[in-house]
Amino acid sequence: MTTSLSLLPIHNRFDISFSHGKGVYLYNKNEEYLDFGAGIAVNALGHCHPKIVEALTAQANKLWHVSNVYNVNELNNFAEKLTAATFADYVFFCNSGAESLECAVKTMRRYFYSKNQPHKNRVITFSGAFHGRTITAISAAAKKKYTEGFEPLLDGFDNVEFGNIEAVKNAISDNTAGILIEPIQGEEGIRPCSKEFLQQLRDICDQHGLLLGFDEVQCGYGRIGHLYAYQYYGVIPDVIATAKAIGNGFPLGACLIKKEAGQYMTAGTHGTTYGGNPLAMAVANAVLDEILGDNFLDNVKKMGAFLKSELQNLQKQFPNIISEVRGIGLMLGLKINDKFLNTMIVQKFIDNHFLTIPAGENVVRLLPPLIIEKKHIVEAIAKIEKTLKSINS
Ligand code: PLP
Repeated sequence: MTTSLSLLPIHNRFDISFSHGKGVYLYNKNEEYLDFGAGIAVNALGHCHPKIVEALTAQANKLWHVSNVYNVNELNNFAEKLTAATFADYVFFCNSGAESLECAVKTMRRYFYSKNQPHKNRVITFSGAFHGRTITAISAAAKKKYTEGFEPLLDGFDNVEFGNIEAVKNAISDNTAGILIEPIQGEEGIRPCSKEFLQQLRDICDQHGLLLGFDEVQCGYGRIGHLYAYQYYGVIPDVIATAKAIGNGFPLGACLIKKEAGQYMTAGTHGTTYGGNPLAMAVANAVLDEILGDNFLDNVKKMGAFLKSELQNLQKQFPNIISEVRGIGLMLGLKINDKFLNTMIVQKFIDNHFLTIPAGENVVRLLPPLIIEKKHIVEAIAKIEKTLKSINS
């Protein structure tokens, strides 16, 4: 089916649709596609995972929505579970990544306001970042591609060069409240921070009494073989924005916060109608049980290492097309040589029934469901090889 002209034309869509999905495959009626995009790092457990379908349908037969003016049992349960698995003391549930960022930024500002330092309301952010599409999120990322035509932007962000610690130091003023960073930039083309850089940010925050926020919307929730990327990096933030895989396709975001940082977000300071509703929480509980289950994250690490080494072999075979293999765990990217467009490569992969996602810096992202097995990687590599051979022939 082609794109409806009734849709606000904000998306460049590939000309394909799907009738159903199962595991790591999507189907267009009888045609099978190997899905290494996972809805842009959303379907961590693949499509129609039986335990998630069961959790959702069981909850759908009991209770869909009650207001947050009441106690919601499923919400309480999941909040306890998620905070027990992370550094966080508090969690706020919302419906998307951008909303989780909104809560992160409000938490930073409110913290200093409540400590009688309302002038400390600026957040240092980084070039190449993507935090979503709200005015707060585009103001934070400050990339022209996202901000153009939407001015005036929200004041209060100082955007500096990604990875440049001197630029961070120079940007700190008496008005700085915190630093916000994606440990691995996703939309910009799979650009991981070094461990050293993130640790330096933590040290700077500690020295100046600032709050450190991580945007783990894309890199978090098992994607790199740890529940959150901060665990891989060994650097503990004060706030994390998380979404995507947390609901495996059910719209859900969350902001994870340390007690010290979150204590001033009191009744009336923030809110949501849908965030943490019983349907979302039932799904989220079942998803987290799977991700924290035996061997799940180890499998992500193993499959990630295997996929990366196979991709590096392909890079040696096709150096005229792939100039670099990037990323950690199952958040990988192929940087495509400038003479080819990444979207052209993605289209050719689609023609060979293989789904990937384009990103900045002419990168093709591979973000498969975290349940992939070796045989799926072997199949993916064969499809990539076949496609690249056809381009070279
Ligand atoms: N932050 C990051 C790192 C993202 O990758 C995204 C979405 O791609 C967002 C925030 C925004 O999430 P959402 O589209 O759910 O608002």
